[in-house]
Amino acid sequence: MAATYFVQECPTCGRNLQVRVDYMGKRVVCQHCKAKFEACDPTSAAYPPMESSLSLLARADQLIESASRSGLSTMSRTAI
Ligand SMILES: [Zn+2]
Repeated sequence: MAATYFVQECPTCGRNLQVRVDYMGKRVVCQHCKAKFEACDPTSAAYPPMESSLSLLARADQLIESASRSGLSTMSRTAI
C-alpha cells in the first residue's frame, strides 16, 4: 500500500520522512529532529486530497452558477 504514505523532506534537517496521507495538510513532527512542519505532498498538486477538491468543486459550481445567472452573454462572448 504505497499510497498510504508519501515522502516529504524535513525542512529543518533535510531528511526524507514517510508521512501518512492522513496527516496531509496537518502539522507533523519530524521523527529525527522533532521539528514541527506542515505535511504537504509535493505531488498533491496533481492529485489534491478529496476534501479540498470537493470544496474547490463546490466553489467552481458556485462561480458557474453565479456567472450563468448574471453574465451568460459575457461567458459565450468569451468562448467565441
Ligand atoms: Zn527533521
